[in-house]
Amino acid sequence: MKALVIEEPGKAVIKDVPYPKPGLGEVTVKVSQVGICGTDVHIYKGEFLSPYPIIPGHEFSGIIHEVGEGVPSFQKGQRVAADPSLFCGKCEYCMTNRGNHCENWGALGNTVDGSMAEYVKVPYKNLVVLPEEMSFEEGAFIEPLACVVYAMHRLQMKVGDQVLLFGAGAMGQQLVQSFKAAGASQLVVVDISEEKLQLAKEWGATHVFTSAQLEEARTIQPRGFDIVVDATGIPNVIEEALTFIGPVGKYLQFGVTPTDAKIKMNPFDLYYKDWTLIGSMAINHTFIPAFNWLKEKRIDVSPLVSKSISLEEMPSFLEGPRDKNLLKVQVKIS
Ligand SMILES: [Zn+2]
Ligand SMILES: [Zn+2]
Repeated sequence: MKALVIEEPGKAVIKDVPYPKPGLGEVTVKVSQVGICGTDVHIYKGEFLSPYPIIPGHEFSGIIHEVGEGVPSFQKGQRVAADPSLFCGKCEYCMTNRGNHCENWGALGNTVDGSMAEYVKVPYKNLVVLPEEMSFEEGAFIEPLACVVYAMHRLQMKVGDQVLLFGAGAMGQQLVQSFKAAGASQLVVVDISEEKLQLAKEWGATHVFTSAQLEEARTIQPRGFDIVVDATGIPNVIEEALTFIGPVGKYLQFGVTPTDAKIKMNPFDLYYKDWTLIGSMAINHTFIPAFNWLKEKRIDVSPLVSKSISLEEMPSFLEGPRDKNLLKVQVKIS
């Protein structure tokens, strides 16, 4: 079968590789649609803990092609999406509902071959069957939405909270919809792209500002916001964001920074203003609630797919440069 293989950092090729026959408790899925994630670019650049060679791709949907031994209740031809998480289920972290910190952590497309190929094999327990009205594009969006759902679980926001969000990319736009659904009052969004801010406004932002207008955001809440979120991963933006947290406010680091990034913050503010600082890493048993949220159309992700490319276009896409105005780009495989 045809696959995108990252043979070593900086070297991605389309090549023929063996078909992944499903083993015990596994099914092989004929891949339809795969979302491209920042992590795929990190793997390409050698900035992630992946082994090489590897087939990337962890946000995907497709059709069951072959069912292995010991798989109840799944059949060839079903339309599915899958949680890429491979938690061991046996370590201390898995046993205490912290599977995203599993001592033997793995994920499809990160530590074992993923879905940027004609076929991918998946443990059956990771699958969900897509309802007829859910497109393959939406199915490939359950995984990123599951990261947003985990962030919302971490945040525990209260109805009426005033929220400031930095970053209105594909993830930021899902956060905007989530904050609105979760009962935010004021919802202020900052980004460099006017186009993305306009979209944020359509989905419930009460005020939007370009980075150049940032000081105007301060006049809205001179004492600061109840919740401040960074969805950019840019250290300078994060330093700025911290100055907007109000008394007893919460800060969420959602954007992924370079691993060696450093920022300055004033610990007196942390003490004096009773702040809570929160991180949110990937997915932690949040794939099913994300699927349910999408199924009931509480969140609209289809306008976030800016374009679909072919598998053959992937090597040059990884190489860059990439258009900064794009939201989510997906690969259409079949
Ligand atoms: Zn991802
Ligand atoms: Zn574990």
